[in-house]
Amino acid sequence: NQQIHLTRRPQGMPQAGDFSFVEAQMPEIGEGQALVRTLYLSVDPYLRGRMSDKKSYVAPFEVGKMLSGGIVGQVEESRTPSLARGDIVTGHLGWQRYAAVTPGQVTKVDPTLAPISTALGVLGMTGLTAYFGLLDIGRPKEGETVVVSGAAGAVGMIVGQIARIKGARAVGIAGSAEKTEYLIRELGFDAAVNYKNDNFREELEKACPQGVDVYFDNVGGEVSDAVLAHLNKGARIPLCGQISMYNLEKPDIGPRIQPQLLINSALMKGFIVGEYAARFGDGVRELAGWLKEDKLKYAENIVDGFENTIEAFLGLFSGENVGKQLVKVAEP
Ligand code: NDP
Repeated sequence: NQQIHLTRRPQGMPQAGDFSFVEAQMPEIGEGQALVRTLYLSVDPYLRGRMSDKKSYVAPFEVGKMLSGGIVGQVEESRTPSLARGDIVTGHLGWQRYAAVTPGQVTKVDPTLAPISTALGVLGMTGLTAYFGLLDIGRPKEGETVVVSGAAGAVGMIVGQIARIKGARAVGIAGSAEKTEYLIRELGFDAAVNYKNDNFREELEKACPQGVDVYFDNVGGEVSDAVLAHLNKGARIPLCGQISMYNLEKPDIGPRIQPQLLINSALMKGFIVGEYAARFGDGVRELAGWLKEDKLKYAENIVDGFENTIEAFLGLFSGENVGKQLVKVAEP
């Protein structure tokens, strides 16, 4: 049974040598357990935080131990009446090909709802992050302008489309011309700007002629500084992620944004999607409904092969992905 371990804590941008592939014993299942074969594995930016030993909302990974994350798998063998051979399940499990699980560690996935990989994306953690962060904190109203950074990523592309569903104007910020094109042409964003362009600030201002009512922040840093200069009175800022800072060893010194918040009576609120766990069922139902009605689209960037997991993870920091970055480990 192959596993991926953290060999040392990354300094700055993680390197392949920070990880190792380890051959472990095949897990044996006891009474009340099931053997799950990993089919899809989710790589997510927040895992970078867990590779450091700084205090955060989840405990750091331990050096010399297996990494873990969102998995979709299939039950191969079961010694519990709650799980049957062939069931598709999802849960937070180790980065390995096979796992022994108890029913409480996993949730069954309904394969008739949507492709099973969506349990890790639009109908899973990233879709729910977009849904609750935008609707609970951002609260977009009809005609308002919603700006989202990391807009071509798993969370961002869903945020912009929900903003449109709510009758708001969606403006995306992403890191290439292909991505901004895609947001406008395929996903119906009203405007999209490339933050890597020299004239990013001017383009952003042009894209937001009525100012910014909601800024869904996935990236932080200079991109956010540029957006916060255009806040409207009463703006709301769901603080979802700060990917531009995850690999910095020293804090990034930027402009102080408090005056922007103060003079606009703006609200900036951080959140962790897990805080909404009691309402996940409602969120998934509404997201799945929008998918069925074709009001919501999603994209996945699927890398084939467990052996390519680390490259897939590192690709998040260079913007390789459009939509949810997944690793396909095995066929159902
Ligand atoms: P994405 O699918 O958006 O992938 C990451 C993207 O970030 C890349 O494709 C890249 O796109 C962009 N990026 C990478 N480095 C930088 C940088 N230095 N500056 C600006 N953009 C950069 O990931 P997710 O959708 O899964 O996550 C998006 C954000 O949401 C992350 O910050 C993540 O930590 C956060 N998050 C928070 C949760 C919560 O509960 N609060 C839950 C889930 C995610 P580009 O080409 O545009 O640069």
